[in-house]
Amino acid sequence: MGHTMTAAPGPLTSATHDAGPIVGPLVDSFGRVHTNLRVSVTDRCNIRCFYCMPAENVQFRPRHELLSFEEIARFVKVTARMGVNKVRLTGGEPLVRHDLSVLVRMLAGIDGIREIALTTNGILLAQQAKALKAAGLARLNISLDSLSPETFFKISRREGLDQVLAGIFAARDAGFERIRLNAVAIRGITEPEVVPLGRFARQHGMEMRFIEFMPLDAENHWESQAVLSGAEIREVLEREIAPLVPLDVTDPAQPATDYAFADGIGRIGFINPVTQPFCAKCNRLRLTAEGQVRNCLFSTTEWDARAVLRGGCTDQDLAELVRASVGAKKPGHGIDDPQFIRPARAMYQIGG
Ligand code: SAM
Repeated sequence: MGHTMTAAPGPLTSATHDAGPIVGPLVDSFGRVHTNLRVSVTDRCNIRCFYCMPAENVQFRPRHELLSFEEIARFVKVTARMGVNKVRLTGGEPLVRHDLSVLVRMLAGIDGIREIALTTNGILLAQQAKALKAAGLARLNISLDSLSPETFFKISRREGLDQVLAGIFAARDAGFERIRLNAVAIRGITEPEVVPLGRFARQHGMEMRFIEFMPLDAENHWESQAVLSGAEIREVLEREIAPLVPLDVTDPAQPATDYAFADGIGRIGFINPVTQPFCAKCNRLRLTAEGQVRNCLFSTTEWDARAVLRGGCTDQDLAELVRASVGAKKPGHGIDDPQFIRPARAMYQIGG
């Protein structure tokens, strides 16, 4: 599982220490300020997308290894004191974690946290959308690779498109605004989906985002030729639907380039980590479901926050562990480097 860095646990003291210095934002050695934390709450999932997970016999982490809600909240509280202001919950599939809205409520109440967002496959969303909204969840990204039940099954190796669509509409009815729909763009699969997905987003006033396929699939089939680039998709959408007009950048660290159709109906975003890496403006930090801090999706090193948390650390110990991880961040993910080494974890084990 790559390289793990542990810090010696601090003295056995009580779990909350608001008073200490902690001091200063999370700035790496290239000047990037980290304000965005992605927290995976589980590696489990109720579908088996081939670009992420193995088809069968998945070895999930035993439950006692996963951070508890209290441990996650403590981690978020400490990072908020170093400038983290946005938290996105992910997985695995975050909605398979029991009572997720309880965690949302805990995190929404932390000083300095301005936004809690969630990335989900939508299958369990119809049942949970209202509770999540009431708990303080602000934004939703819902994966939607296809509107065809056959293609959905080919990708996810499970049934479920109807539940996903029901989840999307339940979320809208629960009051979520600016819902984003994410499709992984894969050559040989996504081409026939592009126009129907673009039209769906227009019809329902949502944003469709196409994400280039990254080398994080568990079965190790990724190759650069399998990446359907954002530029190719854009050309198809402009030809088949309407011209796209670039939107102003509201967040300089945002990974997506966003467009609106020229007639003002519907939005499209492109996340092009392979053909147009955006590492130079990366402000993200990750916490895996079992409490490992990662400074990049493609990192081969991790910092063991769970050992520190369960070793009776002070908040300062935890802050220093996070700072060490950020301090060691590399300038880029290196996918295009001939020496590139894939991380030992697949996407579902990191938290996308
Ligand atoms: N289960 C949730 C979902 O489906 O949205 C959250 C976790 S999933 C790992 C988060 C995002 O990562 C999804 O949008 C998914 O499509 C994307 N993803 C997974 N594997 C990927 C890969 N190899 N390349 C690009 N995106 C990937």
